Amino acid sequence: MWNIEEFAGAAHDTVDSLAAYVSESQAGPSPVLTNPPPGELAARLGLDRWIREGGMTGETYRGFLDDYLATGTRVHHPGHLAHQIAAPFFPAALADFVHGAANNPMALYEMGASAATVEFAVIRWMLEKTGLAGQGGGVLTHGGSLANLTALLAARAAAAPDAWRAGTPAGELALLAPPSAHYSLARAGAIIGLGEDAVFEPATDPLGRVLPERLPDVLDRVRRAGRRPMALVAGACATGTGLYDDLRAIGAFCREHGIWFHVDGAHGASALLSERHRHLLDGIETADSITWDAHKMLGTSSLAAAVLVRRADDLDRAFRQEASYLFYGEQGFDTMGRTIECSKAELGLKVFLNLAWYGERGLGEHVAARYATARRLWELAAARPGFTCPYEPQSNIVCFRYGGPDTDQAAIRARLMAQGDFYLSSAEIAGSRYLRASVMAPATGDKTLSALLDAVARAGS
Ligand SMILES: *Cc1c(COP(=O)(O)O)cnc(C)c1O
Repeated sequence: MWNIEEFAGAAHDTVDSLAAYVSESQAGPSPVLTNPPPGELAARLGLDRWIREGGMTGETYRGFLDDYLATGTRVHHPGHLAHQIAAPFFPAALADFVHGAANNPMALYEMGASAATVEFAVIRWMLEKTGLAGQGGGVLTHGGSLANLTALLAARAAAAPDAWRAGTPAGELALLAPPSAHYSLARAGAIIGLGEDAVFEPATDPLGRVLPERLPDVLDRVRRAGRRPMALVAGACATGTGLYDDLRAIGAFCREHGIWFHVDGAHGASALLSERHRHLLDGIETADSITWDAHKMLGTSSLAAAVLVRRADDLDRAFRQEASYLFYGEQGFDTMGRTIECSKAELGLKVFLNLAWYGERGLGEHVAARYATARRLWELAAARPGFTCPYEPQSNIVCFRYGGPDTDQAAIRARLMAQGDFYLSSAEIAGSRYLRASVMAPATGDKTLSALLDAVARAGS
């Protein structure tokens, strides 16, 4: 049984530590990351001793926690611009805490009625936002990669209804996905037994956007290879560049040819909540399936993603399986038959609490503000000598490079990381390496951007 007093004391300490940590991270004086080698870190944190001897107390825990936080990566830091990891909002953090204690995995309704009902409400809201409310259905999963895999399973069930029993028909199906698609899609294709040879790349512009008018070419190639399309994937937006595909035109092509249309909106579907940016997703309602991560732009911790489908039945058909101890009688409110995960966490709560606290409008303003900051970075960089910006950003992801063709962008990135003020990622576009910033943290402002460009120029000279 819990020692309630001990728990309450340690929980209070945790709140105090986290409050100080987030406050300091947002203000930005500490390094965004220190990246010490794991051996050194294990020694500093006393890992071996704690594992072997146990005996942590409220007091030693507090010391451990402060060290743990200080040696990690600060996502709330203004200079945290590398990956699409949210600086989570605190209502979502509270939900994680509640889950840690109440632990109501809810894929069987009876194992967590409130958790399941909250997830239903969140899914219904997402279906409304994407225009799939009519016959649509969905489920929350641990991440966009799993959501993409689930969507492709649904697409396979539609294209080859017998595949669950007989296996994926060899050499028969094709997955149409541009090279700019997230790697999880080709990986999902391999997992479901399509094989890499089944991936056909539609023609794209130099920035990796699908050219809708060239889609007949790829369909031709698929047919000449003796295959038929299982699904076509569009990015909303692409992970590398943050650019959106033309969903309206691609969706129309899919409809005309009876091809399953999957929109990977893991990162960018949240722009549906911003009046100024909603147009980027025009046509999303023509999708057969959609991936939408809440842990990127809706301010939850990793992971909480939705896979949404046009016809709720498609998700049931994706998993035709019997497990006598779980699936008996009617499925009713159980979601277990629609997800890869068994004891799935109560993911709806963290999405819900952010919505409940800030409203759809508040979350939309968050998206709009991050997109605007990335645009400002693009404007500032484009106006500075030595910087090259290959495109005008459409989201909060922006790529740029400094110096001539021989300037090593990876070395610039490494120098910045070692200095500790900025953490960038990098991406390849049309064969060239660029620095890549994703503006995720509300703390990142104009002052950060100018300082970043100064630091990049110094590191590149
Ligand atoms: C981040 C991302 C994914 C993967 O999502 P995870 O939640 O990290 O598994 C898939 N597709 C796109 C477009 C993404 O940006």
